[in-house]
Amino acid sequence: MNAKYSIVIPAYNEQESIPLFIEAVTPIMQNLNEEYEVIFVNDGSRDNTLNVLKNFANKDRHIKYVSFARNFGQQAAIFCGLAHSSGDAVIIMDVDLQDPVEVIPLMIEKWKDGYEIVHGKRTKRNGENFFKKFTSAMYLKFLQSISGLKIPKNVGEFKLLDRKVVDVINAMPEHERFLRGLTSWVGFKQTEVEFERKARKAGETKYTLKKMLKYAGNGIVSYSTWPLTLAMKSGLLFGFLSVACFITFIVLACCKIFLPLTAWLFPTVALFFSWMLIITGFNNIYLRRTYEETRNRPRYIISETKNFEKN
Ligand code: UDP
Ligand code: MG
Repeated sequence: MNAKYSIVIPAYNEQESIPLFIEAVTPIMQNLNEEYEVIFVNDGSRDNTLNVLKNFANKDRHIKYVSFARNFGQQAAIFCGLAHSSGDAVIIMDVDLQDPVEVIPLMIEKWKDGYEIVHGKRTKRNGENFFKKFTSAMYLKFLQSISGLKIPKNVGEFKLLDRKVVDVINAMPEHERFLRGLTSWVGFKQTEVEFERKARKAGETKYTLKKMLKYAGNGIVSYSTWPLTLAMKSGLLFGFLSVACFITFIVLACCKIFLPLTAWLFPTVALFFSWMLIITGFNNIYLRRTYEETRNRPRYIISETKNFEKN
């Protein structure tokens, strides 16, 4: 079988990493002796990323890029790369060589064995601090328990997807997509390839705390409506507690013990108000999502592309 492979790489301010990545990935792909394309999605970088990509794309037709008009985030960049890919199998990875290129042929082997999704599983995560590893493990547990999704452990964005899976994902109508959730949700024959995650080769992480929180929030709102049930659950709980309070007051009054009611008033009222606000907050998250989805805005805006058949 002569197959074609696509590699999809989101890149945000990665001028130092791109040359290293291309240097590492090119011999690996050439050794396969099959067709391939390397698609970079420049996610509105403010450094020299676009020019670096232009230079490489001019020299090598395998190197293609799509460039965003501004920073739309890693997920948007990945989905844009998938939409532009034409390979029979598509490999998604970071540009910083944290995902080793040597794993690509191993993933392809599994794909040739008939697997439609091959996850890269990290056995070690070098260059990541305890806080990041701990919070991401806790987050995954929480997301699994409230969504019912089986998201494999220690698996990130590094994975191979069969054309069938890519077509399904490309056809999804929703705007805010979360790759790790989607690839579990779609099903298909899945397996894992283990690797040691290295520290970044160049540059710094582009994931600020703000971006991480947005990513985590997205996963929850995309795959669970559990927060919506909080209103009913807490409403029942507080109803029960207040009835219990009334009964206690009446029993105490029967025993001629009178509590100063004013002492109870302030915390009770404050508690109820804070709950109302939290619940309204949750409702608003979903309201906002509905609003954004119905607005049907594009998920990203492309300013230019290079080396694709269309141009
Ligand atoms: N990235 C992106 N847009 C962003 C942030 C990151 O395209 O807004 C890219 C980045 O260039 C890299 C990948 O997403 O190729 C993963 O980012 P990073 O390596 O900074 O994350 P980490 O590995 O530290 O979680
Ligand atoms: Mg990285």
